[in-house]
Amino acid sequence: MNSIGKQVLSALKSEISEIDYQRYIKQLTFNDVESKSNLAIFNAPNPLIANWIRTKFSEKMAHLFEIKTGIKPTISIIVQSGKNIPSSPAVIAAPVERASGSLLNPSYTFQNFVVGGSNNFAFIAAKNVSEKPGVVYNPLFIYGGVGLGKTHLMQSVGNVMLAQGKTVIYTSVEQFLNDFSRHLSNRTMDRFKDKYRKCDLLLIDDIQFLSGKNQIQEEFFHTFEALRNENKQIIITSDKHPKKIGGLEERLKSRFEWGLVADIQPPELETKIEIIKKKCEINRVKLDREVINYVATIIENNTREIEGILSKLNAYSQLMGVDITIEFTRNVLKEQMAEKRSNITTDLIMDTVAKELNVKSSEIRSKSRNSNIVYARRIAIYLSRSLTPNSMPQLAQYFGMKDHTAVSHTMKKIQELMKNDEDFRIKVEELSNKVSMVTSE
Ligand code: ADP
Ligand code: MG
Repeated sequence: MNSIGKQVLSALKSEISEIDYQRYIKQLTFNDVESKSNLAIFNAPNPLIANWIRTKFSEKMAHLFEIKTGIKPTISIIVQSGKNIPSSPAVIAAPVERASGSLLNPSYTFQNFVVGGSNNFAFIAAKNVSEKPGVVYNPLFIYGGVGLGKTHLMQSVGNVMLAQGKTVIYTSVEQFLNDFSRHLSNRTMDRFKDKYRKCDLLLIDDIQFLSGKNQIQEEFFHTFEALRNENKQIIITSDKHPKKIGGLEERLKSRFEWGLVADIQPPELETKIEIIKKKCEINRVKLDREVINYVATIIENNTREIEGILSKLNAYSQLMGVDITIEFTRNVLKEQMAEKRSNITTDLIMDTVAKELNVKSSEIRSKSRNSNIVYARRIAIYLSRSLTPNSMPQLAQYFGMKDHTAVSHTMKKIQELMKNDEDFRIKVEELSNKVSMVTSE
């Protein structure tokens, strides 16, 4: 017979995402021997996973027990000592209790972070900070667009320190503000100060939301000063450089630059490919190279899209019992692309191609035989023919070519190249998707 713990875990499976289940819940084992009706004990392989499950799922788990037994137990997630634990010994030895209270995603680690030219600087800075917190760069300020890995990087430092048994607080401006208001109205400000000024590492995500909130800026300023005076590490993220955050006190702006300001740029295609591979590995999704490359051309800059796409592909393929082939992928993601494709014009294609390939739009339409320009022109023609309703004679006229046979010749040439040269095909697909993205903005 299945133990009640197992029943709860399988009930939980149907309530949460497949990814959450595979990654976290599946790693739990129910402790039959020590559990009681009002205390359900589960073993987790390491404190990071234990902490995450405790924060995210324990309430749901207690509820599922209540449905099955009529009693709502306390859920205790403990770290199992002993064999087959993949994490490092330091992780295993860390006291579990210290981990509570901070909400870190255990998969946001340095090992899971793909380093490329676009994020190299921020990565090294974060790595250094994790090795010498409070000493090298304090604060570390990481800024960049949405989905570029800021939260991932800052939490990687958090996970390193958490595993060493340090106190780590991860918070958003909103949470900090709520906490502040609650303690203020409860007259427990000393506890608020204790919490935020006595931690070893304070992670504040998306600090741009401090903008215009004066009272909390004041409080944050004092927290900042207290931590820095004690050489406690602070890491801050933002969507822009401190100087560019409006509605922020000057003294805060200047302090944000006291340590190190590191930016993250949108990833290059190669980095996107590596990130997809990494996400596949973590989520145990198997994709072949062609599919990975195709997905890389679809996502623009926001890496967050990757997990959505992976789980979509996974879900569809399981539902239909088929492998994730390139045709399958194109089909599943077709709608996503089609939506973006409705109002593409030849002008837009030319501007995008010109910009991406570093030539001038006017050169594309000229008669120049310069090889870069010929290359750009051919791609622009190919994309115009594939993505717009224009006929070959119309395109011939637009691109200043003799007649439609010249266009048809170009089309054949490009198709042949795409068939034989994978790098070239990826490049063209990427451009094609870039054009589509521009219209969807
Ligand atoms: P941000 O905070 O900058 O908006 P996140 O840190 O939330 O971005 O990243 C969005 C998603 O993309 C996360 O799942 C994260 O793990 C992933 N990601 C972003 N950059 C990388 C990278 N270089 N390597 C691995 N995963 C990444
Ligand atoms: Mg973030």
